[in-house]
Amino acid sequence: MSVMAEDRTRKEGNPALAKKYVYFFGDGKAEGTKDQRSLLGGKGANLAEMTNLGVPVPPGFTISTVACKEFYALGTKWPHGLLEEIQENMKKLEGATEKKFGSRQNPLLVSVRSGAAVSLPGMMDTILNLGLSDETVKGLIEKSGNERFAYDAYRRFIQMFSNVVLELEHHGFEHILQAKKKKLKVTQDTELNAAALKDLVTEYKAHVKKSTKKDFPQNPAEQLKLACNAVFRSWNNDRAITYRNLSKIPHDLGTAVNVQSMVFGNMGNTSGTGVAFTRDPGTGEHRFFGEFLMNAQGEDVVAGIRTPNPIKELKDKMPKAYAQLEEIYQKLEKHFRDMQDIEFTIEDHRLYMLQTRSGKRSAAAAVKIACDMVREGMINRDEALLRVSPDQLDQLLHPMIDPKVKIKALAKGLPASPGAAVGQVVFSAEDAMEGAKKGKKTILVRQETSPEDVGGMAAAEGILTATGGMTSHAAVVARGMGKCCIAGCGSIHIEDDAFTVKDSSGKTVKVKQGDFLTLNGSTGDVILGQAKLVDAELGDDFRQFMGWADDVRRLKVRTNADTPEDARIARDFGAEGIGLCRTEHMFFGENRLKAVREMILAQNEKEREKALAKLAPLQKGDFKGIFKAMAGLPVTIRLLDPPLHEFLPKSGKEMKKVAKDLKIPVKDLEKKVVQLHEVNPMLGHRGCRLAVTYPEIYRMQARAIFEAACELAKEGLRVVPEIMIPLVGMIGELTFTKQDILKVAEEVMAKRKVKIDYLVGTMIEIPRAALIADDIAKEADFFSFGTNDLTQMAFGFSRDDVGKFLPFYVERGLLKVDPFVSIDQVGVGKLIEMSVSKGRGVKPQLKIGICGEHGGDPSSVEFCHRVKLDYVSCSPFRVPIARLAAAQAVLKERK
Ligand code: PEP
Ligand code: MG
Repeated sequence: MSVMAEDRTRKEGNPALAKKYVYFFGDGKAEGTKDQRSLLGGKGANLAEMTNLGVPVPPGFTISTVACKEFYALGTKWPHGLLEEIQENMKKLEGATEKKFGSRQNPLLVSVRSGAAVSLPGMMDTILNLGLSDETVKGLIEKSGNERFAYDAYRRFIQMFSNVVLELEHHGFEHILQAKKKKLKVTQDTELNAAALKDLVTEYKAHVKKSTKKDFPQNPAEQLKLACNAVFRSWNNDRAITYRNLSKIPHDLGTAVNVQSMVFGNMGNTSGTGVAFTRDPGTGEHRFFGEFLMNAQGEDVVAGIRTPNPIKELKDKMPKAYAQLEEIYQKLEKHFRDMQDIEFTIEDHRLYMLQTRSGKRSAAAAVKIACDMVREGMINRDEALLRVSPDQLDQLLHPMIDPKVKIKALAKGLPASPGAAVGQVVFSAEDAMEGAKKGKKTILVRQETSPEDVGGMAAAEGILTATGGMTSHAAVVARGMGKCCIAGCGSIHIEDDAFTVKDSSGKTVKVKQGDFLTLNGSTGDVILGQAKLVDAELGDDFRQFMGWADDVRRLKVRTNADTPEDARIARDFGAEGIGLCRTEHMFFGENRLKAVREMILAQNEKEREKALAKLAPLQKGDFKGIFKAMAGLPVTIRLLDPPLHEFLPKSGKEMKKVAKDLKIPVKDLEKKVVQLHEVNPMLGHRGCRLAVTYPEIYRMQARAIFEAACELAKEGLRVVPEIMIPLVGMIGELTFTKQDILKVAEEVMAKRKVKIDYLVGTMIEIPRAALIADDIAKEADFFSFGTNDLTQMAFGFSRDDVGKFLPFYVERGLLKVDPFVSIDQVGVGKLIEMSVSKGRGVKPQLKIGICGEHGGDPSSVEFCHRVKLDYVSCSPFRVPIARLAAAQAVLKERK
């Protein structure tokens, strides 16, 4: 019988039915191991493991998560037998420590801490010194010979317990403390003598009585019961629920409770406490890194009232304890095979370990530690790949706010495109471009952006919009540019040349044109003023690490790029082709926009052809640039997609200027703009629908593609164009547009006497296309999922308006995650799976990819791997993220 099974049936009464809720650790032996996180919580499992390893850990016991789950199942009541088991373990603990819980002579004091399987900030704070009362404090005085220490511990305990268990605010106690210090004319807590602290205890107890109408509990057993209840309850406090929602952690795991005998770091100058990391968590450097405080309890280190000393100085102060600490940290790292974050206390020269866990680290440190540990033979490459979170890599690729700087956000929006930016506020694309010419760094603030703002977006350091979601124009374009962007920041109100926002204290702050602003596109924080930024560095470790990822992954990773410059950046990041080249972005710019407008305003086909002829050579040049940059890798070019009115002026001022440029009456222009106006442009005259009404547009684009390809092929360059038709929902839309493309291809190739391999495929971005994917596959050489539109249309959520309501869906738990960020696998995912199976049912070798924004989201990449797509395509700066996520998908599948 295993130890566990034996434990479960060990109890008296009816052994077959009895359950075990409490697990002891102490005297070099523990009832649990590190692999029992779900039962004992992370903290409890590692305390058990350290005990078994022979590391000095103050003895204690862990009440399992099962007890917590049953507490809820029974309507917040303790399960039968739990009380007796705790009492039994308390006896064991008394034996191990040679102290007695509640004793007047030799009192045992304990700490009580929560600890779930996954670390959950926002749950219960720690309670220290539990077991103190008017009686036991006397025993503590006698045992320690230090009255001041004992009353200091007691007054801290009353405050902590009252706050966590009795839910009294800290400030009530702080108020009493400040009054006492004022009366005694001292400034530091440490200047209060034993008599003053004893008085404080009396005053604190009176405060509790007044606030709760009950005496402060004097019975240690009752204190423990109330504290355990508070830990169980903390699992479902608002902060913990919100954190679980945000981090996609299930709500039914429950928390464990760790009850551990106290050791005191505040017993004088031969005691102390500290926290340390086995490697540098900022850089990953292989060195012991940490801080300690002499004569202090753990909370003093964390609270930041006193400045801790670097860990190396402990070596001089307490060489023996330091040498032991060094030996232990190395042992722990080797045993857990990961960088550890440890907490320790020294009580009168004796070292105790209070906690060990995998340490949080920066992205740079994560990559370096993973590579170093492979070189040291501690872990293998596959393990190393799983040690770095793909999302975290983002930090490495963009400049970021110096992590050492403390910032205060003025407002918060959606973290639409990562990185950080500092600049002076401007409110129009023109001002951003004007600023750039003068070498001025700007932040472009807009209600929302439109294609006309692209020049200004490129010129600005970062973009902030008041409306729009994660796939709004601003978000998509900024991500493509690798530029920091915060979208949908609903709390800002834009007036002409200023915006106002209420700060955290409710005060209205006005930010004017020219004021400095810092954006953190990775968190959505908008910060007033100039925060210090630091640059990203990609070293040899990064390259080696990504090479390991490439060896493992099956999915190919392409990029969404519209310019040769973006294409080059993406190739440097490892892109294996272009999965989406949005041609509309090529239609902006001085000469082009004019020709596009002429085309839109044309009265008949002939006039339209004339305008298109002006665009054709420019388009050909664009395609040549992109084909060259991709040097033989496949390039998917999507033909024109957005509604035409996006190219027309909006304001009266612009209208006058454009009418003058085009030499037409303003009235005629205004009439055309009204004619083209659509109530729902995203569901309107766009995509292949434009080519059904104006076939000459796609014909011009196809000609430009094939002429570019033929010219380069003649120069000896391999070119692989993949022409993609957007927004197909009916088979006829594909056959109608495709026949023209094939005709143009044959014509150009015959004339140039060159044969080019090319494909004509379609986006699957309309739910109807997914439903008839088998029919579509008969006509399409490839599918590419446009998951932005597919999500928009499957949910019926307007992409550009979701910023107004979607955050509430996530906040209130209706959606676990924004479906424009991570594929909604249960709904939109079904449409994708259905299309793959229908499409490959007709053409088993059908090439299928994804080019919506989800192509760079790690969990969506994992989904794409699972449903057997051939590639994902994402913005250049997300290519490394997708490469790692694709490798992890394979490793997770193998597991
Ligand atoms: C999509 O819809 O997912 C897509 C890639 O196209 P766009 O974002 O340009 O509509
Ligand atoms: Mg689309």
